[in-house]
Amino acid sequence: MTHQLTKRVLAFDIDQTLNIAKTPIPPEIAELLVKCLDYFEICPISGQKFEQFLIQIVDELGKAHVTDEQLTHLHLFVAQGTQYYRFNPEKHDWEQVYNHPLTEEDVVKITTVLEDSAKELGFWEADQLAAGDEIIENRLSQITFSALGQTAGTEAKYAWDPDCKKRQSIVKKCQEKLPDFLYEIGGTTSINVAAPGMNKEFGMTHLLEELHVEKHEVLYFGDMTQPGGNDYPVVQMGFDTITVRSHEDTAYALRGILGVISK
Ligand SMILES: [Mg+2]
Repeated sequence: MTHQLTKRVLAFDIDQTLNIAKTPIPPEIAELLVKCLDYFEICPISGQKFEQFLIQIVDELGKAHVTDEQLTHLHLFVAQGTQYYRFNPEKHDWEQVYNHPLTEEDVVKITTVLEDSAKELGFWEADQLAAGDEIIENRLSQITFSALGQTAGTEAKYAWDPDCKKRQSIVKKCQEKLPDFLYEIGGTTSINVAAPGMNKEFGMTHLLEELHVEKHEVLYFGDMTQPGGNDYPVVQMGFDTITVRSHEDTAYALRGILGVISK
C-alpha cells in the first residue's frame, strides 16, 4: 500500500524546538527524527554554525543508530540557511552545497561600525587580547565582535559585561550609524551582526529551491512564531507552521504524525 503524503519536508527551528537551548537534542527527539527520516526530508534551520549542528543534532542521531541512507534525507540549513550541508554517503561525510557569505562591502561596513562604536564608548579592549587573537571575526555569513577575543578565559569573559549593558550601548550606537543590519547579543562578550534580509526567509527560500519542493509540501516547527520572533519570517511567507512551547510539544506532534503514516 502506498501512502499519499501531502507534506514531504519537515523543517525545524533548533533552540527550544528540538532541544533545551544550546544543548544537544534529547534521546526521545533523536529517536523520533530517525523514524521521520524514513518518510520525510528533515531540515533543521537555525542561526548557529555547522559545528553546533553536528554536536546538537547529528551526533545524537548517531547514538540513535541513524543509517547512512537515512542521513541522505537530513539537510542542514546553517547560519539561517545562508549555508547548506548535506550528507555524502560515498565519502561518509558532510559536504557544503552552497555558502552565501556577506559581501566585501558589508564586511567593511559592519567591521568599521563595531570598532568605531566600541572605541567611542571606551569598550575597545585591544590591550587585553592574547597574541594573535582578534576582537572582530568574519564568520562569513555574519561578523562576530568578541570584546576580549576568542581565547580569553571564561571568568574574564563573564566579568566583562554580566548585565549586557556594555553590549547594549555598543549595539545602540551601531544602529544609529548603520540601521537595518541585524544585531544580536550572544554568549558572554559577543555581538553578532548580519546583513539585512539574512534571516529565516532567506534560508526557507533556498530550501524550496534546493529540495525542489513547493511551499505547501513543507511543515515548519518553531517556538518563536509570534511577530518579532525569529521564526516569524517563516509564518509571514505562508508556510504551514506548528508553534511549540518546547521540544516536548514537538515530540508530541511527531508521535502523532508517525502514528498516522505508519498505519
Ligand atoms: Mg527557537
